[in-house]
Amino acid sequence: MKKITVLIPCHNEEGCLPALYEALGRVAEVNDAYRWEWLFVDDGSTDQTLACLQEMARKDPRVCYVSLSRNFGKEKAMLAGFDYARGDAVVIMDADLQDPPDLISEMVHWWESGYDDVYARRTAREGQGWLRRKMSTAFYRLLQSSTQMDVLQNVGDFRLIDRKCVEALRRFREQERYTKGMFAWIGFRKKELTYTHGVRRVGTSSWGFWSLLSLAINGLTSFTVVPLRFSTLMGLFVSLFALIRMVWVFVKALIWGDPVAGYPSLMVVILFLGGVQLLSLGIIGEYLGRVFNETKNRPVYIVNETNMEHEA
Ligand code: UDP
Ligand code: MG
Repeated sequence: MKKITVLIPCHNEEGCLPALYEALGRVAEVNDAYRWEWLFVDDGSTDQTLACLQEMARKDPRVCYVSLSRNFGKEKAMLAGFDYARGDAVVIMDADLQDPPDLISEMVHWWESGYDDVYARRTAREGQGWLRRKMSTAFYRLLQSSTQMDVLQNVGDFRLIDRKCVEALRRFREQERYTKGMFAWIGFRKKELTYTHGVRRVGTSSWGFWSLLSLAINGLTSFTVVPLRFSTLMGLFVSLFALIRMVWVFVKALIWGDPVAGYPSLMVVILFLGGVQLLSLGIIGEYLGRVFNETKNRPVYIVNETNMEHEA
């Protein structure tokens, strides 16, 4: 019998767990040709999430949990899940039931038909503002055109991946993680399903504007060096322009003399160049900071406690 792991990163999800557990139970009932494993990764929850998981694990041997020593963020929690998952396929799912568990059966069906990565695309995203949607579209366009990779908009982490993909993803040990880009990077046969994304039932989303912005910057800087290229090109154009302008100023002064004037234009040029330089420094800094973080070679996450015997 093949085994399927459902991997659920949880951060303060005590309110969602009972309903989720029930929904998963139904999925297992419908798909009883498989052995199921619910792998909850407790990502440093400060509420009763861990106690709740321990209680569930006592009653149901399918429930496995890995509890991290603090909040590491969903991306790292997912890596922990990949390390511990034992299934022949792994379904990644949010704890808040925004991803419909019923879709899992369909994912399994396509997996059996030979696809390695069955992902779900949201058709409508309820409860999201106009600005956030626009910014998200712009981000994906930028990422796609600069990496030539199919990093898809409206595709979350809700997907089923084959063991092969899990093993590939486990080799990505970087600190600043953008798992969605990794799914695209590793390749394999992909299949798209669509679904309607619901509204979060209990609790609040832990992704604020800043954490999304930082995820976007991570996504860009960990998959493409195009921003560096951009600052090079900008430097090139500005210098070229400055060169032409220099010759012109020089010739003009020779022919007509130069009564002292031009304070406004001087200011404009200084400020503009200052801005360009700061931006370029910032971009270089982003990459340098990343190099710094990676060279420290720290573990990506630390496990505090688990009910799984196998050490990753
Ligand atoms: N999550 C996590 N660590 C965090 C933040 C979130 O493991 O630091 C989990 C969370 O419990 C949920 C999933 O990641 O299962 C998605 O989080 P959320 O629903 O807050 O995000 P959204 O649906 O708004 O993208
Ligand atoms: Mg959610």
